[in-house]
Amino acid sequence: MNTTENPHTQRPLQREREDSFLVNESGYYGDFGGAYIPEILYDNVETLRQEYKKILTDPGFLKEYNALLTDYVGRPTPLYLAKRLSEKYHCKIYLKREDLNHTGAHKINNTIGQILLARRMGKTRIIAETGAGQHGVATATVCALMNMECIVYMGATDVERQKLNVQKMEMLGATVVPVQSGNKTLKDATNEAIRDWCCHPSDTHYIIGSTVGPHPYPDMVARLQSVISKEIKRQLLEKEGRDYPDYLIACVGGGSNAGGTIYEYIDDLRVKIVLAEAGGKGIDSGLSAATIQLGRVGIIHGSKTLLMQTEDGQIEEPYSISAGLDYPGIGPMHANMAKQGRSEVLAVNDDEAIAAAMELTKLEGIIPALESAHALGVFGQKQFQKDDVIVLCLSGRGDKDMETYVRVVSEKV
Ligand SMILES: *Cc1c(COP(=O)(O)O)cnc(C)c1O
Repeated sequence: MNTTENPHTQRPLQREREDSFLVNESGYYGDFGGAYIPEILYDNVETLRQEYKKILTDPGFLKEYNALLTDYVGRPTPLYLAKRLSEKYHCKIYLKREDLNHTGAHKINNTIGQILLARRMGKTRIIAETGAGQHGVATATVCALMNMECIVYMGATDVERQKLNVQKMEMLGATVVPVQSGNKTLKDATNEAIRDWCCHPSDTHYIIGSTVGPHPYPDMVARLQSVISKEIKRQLLEKEGRDYPDYLIACVGGGSNAGGTIYEYIDDLRVKIVLAEAGGKGIDSGLSAATIQLGRVGIIHGSKTLLMQTEDGQIEEPYSISAGLDYPGIGPMHANMAKQGRSEVLAVNDDEAIAAAMELTKLEGIIPALESAHALGVFGQKQFQKDDVIVLCLSGRGDKDMETYVRVVSEKV
């Protein structure tokens, strides 16, 4: 990393804009990103690229977005000092409580923003992909709120596994389309959503649920999730007398809760970033979703990124006990940060995540989502100093994972 140390303050200077870890003008993060799309979507993606920053910074948009985040989503979410967890790991651990958002995770920050954007762009029909159903529920929720037609593509396997979320989406008025191709999971649902978009380019907005897809999606989603780090700044200043932590920790599937947690600190090299990807049954087991450790450069869903693939470039099916983390790719922002050494990425296995979830529940009375439990698994792998201030993004609550938790406990006895 080409950083400059200032000898007088001992603190790294902010980099020049062109060296930033944020997206550049052409839609790339270092070697990763871009927009690799079929020609029929060119006009859609190009219009979005031209409009998204204007809309996201427009005072009228911001007023409506922020009002909904406050009154509908329940923001700001607390920054909670987890005392017993801190004692156990001999450092100061704050939890950013995204689990307390309406619909139970950070995903709604993005869907609220994108539905307002879709309205401003004159779209009348919303499509989305979903894996575990969390993004589908967050999208169906805002479509109900804004009275918009909503179609959610979901792998047939996931439809079977995630009945409750399917029922919620349907109750909210969405049409859930089970996808029968491939392994019938998230990757296949995304393919089908893109196919739909190609057939309805003029009236439809595609709400992507993470920092993935063609430019400008990764940047747009990260900006909409950046409310997380904006709040962390204010809350830390109040609680610690300084507005930055020593470490930020988050789990990473596509990278949106991590992207939002680090956004305001991404070029502030005083803040170290530790991300947890899903190791599954172990990175050498063949059953893993550790994309950054196992992936090679390839193109998936419109973006050049690290991708789990076979020798001849076929996408390998990822595995994780957590449905929100088993995506074979990773947002280009995170591929670049990992490659440049800006982030440290640890693979946290199923059993480590389960143990971390049980521990948080016992010590703090908070049942985390299985995805968030991977972030908590970092404490089992990495030592921190006594004075270190750590902020961990607790991306969601564990209600949806109760069946898994109960099953794992009963298998152990
Ligand atoms: C979807 C989800 C994730 C993973 O998605 P990212 O885009 O990587 O944040 C993590 N935690 C929860 C609770 C989720 O629902």
